[in-house]
Formats: sequence, C-alpha cells, structure tokens
Amino acid sequence: MKKVFFYNFSGRNLPDYSRKDFDTMHVVNGMIKQTGFQMSFPDDGSIGVDLGGATVFSAFADAHVHFTQTGITLLGCRLENAGSLNEIFDMVKSEAADNEYVLGWNMQETRLKEKRLPTSEELDRISSKAFIWLARADLHSAVANSRALQWARSRFPSVVAPQGLITGEAYNFLSYELNALLPKAMKRQALELAAQECYRRGVGTVHALEGCAASESETLAAADFFDSNPLHGVIYHQSPDPALPKRLKWNRMGGCLLVDGSIGTRTASLHEPYADADTSGSQYLKAENIEKLLTAAAQNRLQLALHAIGDRAIDTVTSCYAWAAEKFGRAPLAHRIEHFILPTDKAIMAARDNSIMVCIQPVFDHFWGGQAGLYAQRLGKERAARCNPFKTMLDLGIPLAAGSDSPVTPIDPLLGIHALVNHHSPEERIDLNSALSLHITEPHKFTGEGSARGHLKPARPADFVCLADDPFLTPPSRIKDIRVNGLYLNGEKVF
Ligand SMILES: [Zn+2]
Ligand SMILES: [Zn+2]
Repeated sequence: MKKVFFYNFSGRNLPDYSRKDFDTMHVVNGMIKQTGFQMSFPDDGSIGVDLGGATVFSAFADAHVHFTQTGITLLGCRLENAGSLNEIFDMVKSEAADNEYVLGWNMQETRLKEKRLPTSEELDRISSKAFIWLARADLHSAVANSRALQWARSRFPSVVAPQGLITGEAYNFLSYELNALLPKAMKRQALELAAQECYRRGVGTVHALEGCAASESETLAAADFFDSNPLHGVIYHQSPDPALPKRLKWNRMGGCLLVDGSIGTRTASLHEPYADADTSGSQYLKAENIEKLLTAAAQNRLQLALHAIGDRAIDTVTSCYAWAAEKFGRAPLAHRIEHFILPTDKAIMAARDNSIMVCIQPVFDHFWGGQAGLYAQRLGKERAARCNPFKTMLDLGIPLAAGSDSPVTPIDPLLGIHALVNHHSPEERIDLNSALSLHITEPHKFTGEGSARGHLKPARPADFVCLADDPFLTPPSRIKDIRVNGLYLNGEKVF
C-alpha cells in the first residue's frame, strides 16, 4: 500500500478558491484519506512530500479535446515560424530524410514572404516518395504532394485539389482518415505527446472527442491508451451510430458532430449573411437529422453532444433538444452543445429551461473576439459583440464547462481562465472563482462524475495541480503567465 503525506502548500476547494482550505494531505493508494491544517506526520510509514509553498487545486479538466488529433499535430514539423517557402521546404526536406510520413502544421501563408501556400509540384520536388501533408493553421485545409493526393483520391474520390490544396468536406473527412493511415508506432507516440502536453499544463482529465462515423479505430486506440495511462480520459465517439458507446457501456455519444462549420471559414450557419462574403454558411445537420440522433440517444439512455456555432445552427439544436425533453423526458445525463458561440436570446433561454450543458471555448474570445478581431471582420461589430456571452449564461444558471478544442487552441487552462476574466466585452467577464471552477469541477458534471472528481476531499483521487503563484494575488492581465509547478495524478508526480 503506497502512503504519501503532502505538506507545505495552500490547498484550495470550492466554494471559495481564494481561501486556504487545508495545508496537509494524506494519500493512500492514490486516494485522498484526509486533508487538514497542520496535520501531524502520520505514523504509518508514509513518505513525505514537500510541495514548496505551492497553491494547490484539484487538477484541471479540459472538457473538449481532440486528443489524437492534438497528438498528431505534435508530430512532424511546426511551420508557424517559417518566414518563406524555402524555410518550409528545408524543414520538410530534413523530416523526409528519416520519415515516410511528413506532416506539417500551423502553416500561415500571410507570414510567408511569398504570401502564398506551397504547391503540390513544389513538394514533389522535395520528395515524391514520402507522403507529405502540410496543414494550414485553421485545420480546415492542407497542401499534399502527389503521393498524398493519390491516397486522398482513393479515400475521397470527389476531392478537387487545385495545386494540391485540399479544403472543405474533403479535408474534414481526410484529416480523420489520415489517422488510420499512419503507422501504429507513430500514433502511439502522438498519444504520448498529447498526454505530456496535458501534464505540462496541469490537466488531469480530458473529454476526448475521437473517431468519426467512418472509423472506430482512433476511438479504440485512445480508449486503450487511457486504460494504461494515469491521465483520466472520458471519450466521446464522434459518430451518429450509438453502437460503439453501447458496446463499451459509455453513457454518451457524439462530440464535434458538425451541425455547422466555423466562423473563420464562413461555414458557421447564420440567420443573416456574413459581413464579408455573400453567404450564410452551411448547415450540415437539419432538424430531422438531429431528431433522429436524439431518438437514438434516448433509446440507449445516452447523452448527446453536438457542435453548433452560428445562431441558426444553435437555434436548430436548442429547439430539437427542447423537443426531445418534451417527447422523451429528461435525459439521464443532460445533452451537450459544443461551442455555442453566437446564440440568440431565445437559444439562451432554451438552454436554461432545458438545463442544456454548454461547453464553451473561452480562448476563442481571447484569439478572435473584440472589435478588430476575426469575429468582427466576419460578422460585423454588432454580432461580434454577441459572441461568447459567458457571464450572461453563468448568471442564468446554465451549466457551463470550459474546453480548449485542442488542437484549434492549445490545451492550457490558465489561458482559458485568463480569457474568462479578461473577456473582450467587459460585461461578459466572469469572476476568477467561477472561471477556475469551469476548468476544475464543472467539466466532471458534464460526464456524470461530478461527485467523484474535481474536489480535494477524502475518497477522491489525489489528482492535483501545483501553481507557482496564487491566481487571486496575480493581476488579471497576468493570469496566463502563472507557472504550473507540478501535477500529481493518483498521488504520483507526472509532471
Ligand atoms: Zn467543434
Ligand atoms: Zn471540437
């Protein structure tokens, strides 16, 4: 039996994270046995661990991570700092020297001297033998060389790829298919890298959104990984088919099941056209499709999670969820909506009335909010100001939890907390205590584990993060810079 006694720290719990709740903790076999003030060293053979005065919270939880995808973007070349096409070619060349599969990420043509993406032909000149796939920063398009294009055509025959550029639905589909193609060892390494990324940022739990309708392999590999890893992963299999969750006795289905697209690519479904293009976006799932999903969820007693960003898509989903509540009664675990970026007042009220769980991405506002940001460009200032109404929803008692949508934004809860207390719209800023709970306790409620996790109390796993500074003594503008000093999962140091 492993016994550990932790001392010299400031332990925090709800309801008030600003207050020191305990400063000593006794852990037996990975579970908290007792917490208290200045408890004496137990006389049971415990090892002592000095936490060096850290501020200690229950480990962070990220409620929306594309875990395998995150890992895969940590393999291969990072292209964000390239200043020219030649720099990209050099990186690809050295990667292709030892690897059959060359993946490149975060390519941004606006940062390149040439102001354009490379072409398939140029990549072939580096290597026509290797499989080369270079994705843009928004993860909605990629440039492929001939060998990768040949594979793309075999998997998605209608793909049009001018100069090797794959976009739209073809990209969405192929980005998942890519996982199935990569060698096993490479995928295992990707999952390891994703876990290390979580640990570095103090994250002990992820809601992992894996796989797609066409493939269970990514989901099963992730399940296998979490079974043998201290990181607590709760998987959402992103398929409209409830067969896999049923077989594995999971209480949930869906994930980023796309009702619409994204604001950046102008595919989020809007009531009124975009401000900078003559389109109102795309709605991939109509009410009747969503009702079918809800029927399957109800028949199997599953929670459903759907991706909805634009006001029109969100209205469709909230009214379908209200329809389901009426027809089937309350779901055992309330259904989720992921993103919920531009809700109408009516949708917000429907979310409240039906206790819909809303998984928000605070860092989206940090990156794309504000009067000069991407949302304002795409939607105009009036609609941009209505994006991500965090405080409005919190005050109405709508269940909220925070997720990064990694790899879209990094796994980094302190950046998420920073974004919540520094929202571009001052009236939508939320207090630090709530911002912390959205990253610590609330995500567990979304998966039905609210009483078992997220509190440093007896009979809970000893999953905790050590911060170098107390967020309550840090200026709001500096919260993102607080250092994670350590992460313990089941009482063992993983970072
Ligand atoms: Zn999504
Ligand atoms: Zn997502």
